[in-house]
Amino acid sequence: MVCVAEESETDSEESDVSGSDEDDTSWISWFCNLRGNEFFCEVDDDYIQDDFNLCGLSSQVPYFDYALDLILDVESSHADMFTEEQNELVESAAEMLYGLIHVRYILTTKGISAMLEKYKNYDFGRCPRVYCSGQPCLPVGQSDIPRSSTVKIYCPKCEDIHYPRSKYQGNIDGAYFGTTFPHLFLMTYGHLKPQKASQSYVPRVFGYKLHKP
Ligand SMILES: [Zn+2]
Repeated sequence: MVCVAEESETDSEESDVSGSDEDDTSWISWFCNLRGNEFFCEVDDDYIQDDFNLCGLSSQVPYFDYALDLILDVESSHADMFTEEQNELVESAAEMLYGLIHVRYILTTKGISAMLEKYKNYDFGRCPRVYCSGQPCLPVGQSDIPRSSTVKIYCPKCEDIHYPRSKYQGNIDGAYFGTTFPHLFLMTYGHLKPQKASQSYVPRVFGYKLHKP
């Protein structure tokens, strides 16, 4: 029952996509603060305003120009001439466009350092494996193609991937983080790479190890 109440609460949060109504909150920071979006860092406006960085995205994202205006808080009159349904399409296009910009941004110097701050803050969660002793994880996609799979977390200690703890995070598209990010991150910040997990669990019955058949 509690879960149902929580879900409807989030639905209403998510349907209020204009969020930028409050003067001091940009669309980007509003979006990154939504429940489930904790893995996203805030992409610099400068990065988004450089057309070179958006190369190829206009053919992937519907309502591209309107979605871009929404992300950059550019006042536009389209909201008045569009139907409610069209506005919803623009809003979900904006989320997709942000994700596709985000996956590129986090491989840049600025983006990777924004993700470092989040890593230090344990924003991506910790490895659920007992012998990884709470190792902080990094977000990863299993594919770079949108809508192929949801985001996972990569543990640098056991070098395996796991489902995020929160089901809200578990619904986010893995392509918004990509297959390269955690590995480039650990190459960039080599000192953060932990020693490989050496301990592993041994099943025992009455204290004796099981013989392999
Ligand atoms: Zn682990």
